[in-house]
Amino acid sequence: MKAAVLRSIGQPFAVEDVPDPIIGPDEVLVATRTCGICRTDLHIQDGLAYVPGLPHVPGHEPAGVIADVGRDVDGFQVGQRVVPHLFVSSGDCRFTRTGQHAQATHLQGIIGVTLPGGFAEYFKAPAENLLPLPDNVPFDVGGLTSCAVITAVHAYRKSGLQMGRSAVVLGAGGIGLMLVQLLKQAGVRTIAVSRSPDSLRLATQAGAELSLSIEQAGTAGRIREFVGSGKDGADCIFEMVGRAETMRAGADYTCRGGRIIVIGEEAEFPAIDTIQIAQRELEIIGSRNGGRQDAIDALEMLSAGIVRPHIAGSYALDEINEAMSLVRNRKARGRVIVNVASE
Ligand SMILES: [Zn+2]
Repeated sequence: MKAAVLRSIGQPFAVEDVPDPIIGPDEVLVATRTCGICRTDLHIQDGLAYVPGLPHVPGHEPAGVIADVGRDVDGFQVGQRVVPHLFVSSGDCRFTRTGQHAQATHLQGIIGVTLPGGFAEYFKAPAENLLPLPDNVPFDVGGLTSCAVITAVHAYRKSGLQMGRSAVVLGAGGIGLMLVQLLKQAGVRTIAVSRSPDSLRLATQAGAELSLSIEQAGTAGRIREFVGSGKDGADCIFEMVGRAETMRAGADYTCRGGRIIVIGEEAEFPAIDTIQIAQRELEIIGSRNGGRQDAIDALEMLSAGIVRPHIAGSYALDEINEAMSLVRNRKARGRVIVNVASE
């Protein structure tokens, strides 16, 4: 099969022929149709996160059609449209038993991250990791379930926000824009903060009541003014960037007793004022991907049109390096898709 292969860290992908995946009795072979590109793919390529065994075939937002099923697989047929939940674990643990599959202690790997993924004509997954893709959800949008959409749904749930509360989405990229859509549906008053004027425009379209530049002086003051009701900031900040600068800004935007949900990951150590955290009783909460129920619910929300991911463009597998540089240079507004095979 044709695949985009990372042969050494820091190098472009080589699009070449590699052996097809061989499935075990509990596994399913999927013919890939599309696969989204995420910033984690850049981190893998740069050796900044996960660092899989090389050569490696990345791609963790795939969607496709079942091409073969292992002999012990029930409930899936050849030809069925599917997307994966990425976290493959062996046996159960207290986290998987409570639906926290992205926290599994018996983790065998993450599809497309540490295990072979969807930048290839075929990928394999344990049957228990596969979810049917609703007929009215196209492959390119459906594939985003496994990272971008599930991450937005899970982070929203971690926030515990209720109707009438306020939130700041700090970093209005692909996941941030979906969070804005979810928060609007949930009746949460939402402010988007970003560097890019284009992203702020998209955030306003997605339902943000106020869209502010992180670089402009007085952003924290405008957030306080917007929130009103005697609060000194928003109830919850969704930190989508993960840089020292944005974590510091997030603490300034949060009200006393408010939450900062950390979703963005960068290899930086923010200098957050511990006096601020202790005296203003801020809560800092991490959020990673999500459990299988989050994925099932994410697919329903895609099908119902509650979440509408923005696709920036699609590229053939042969053009993957060009597509990756668009993501790297932050030139794309929305998700960039690799179109592995047409229907
Ligand atoms: Zn991702």
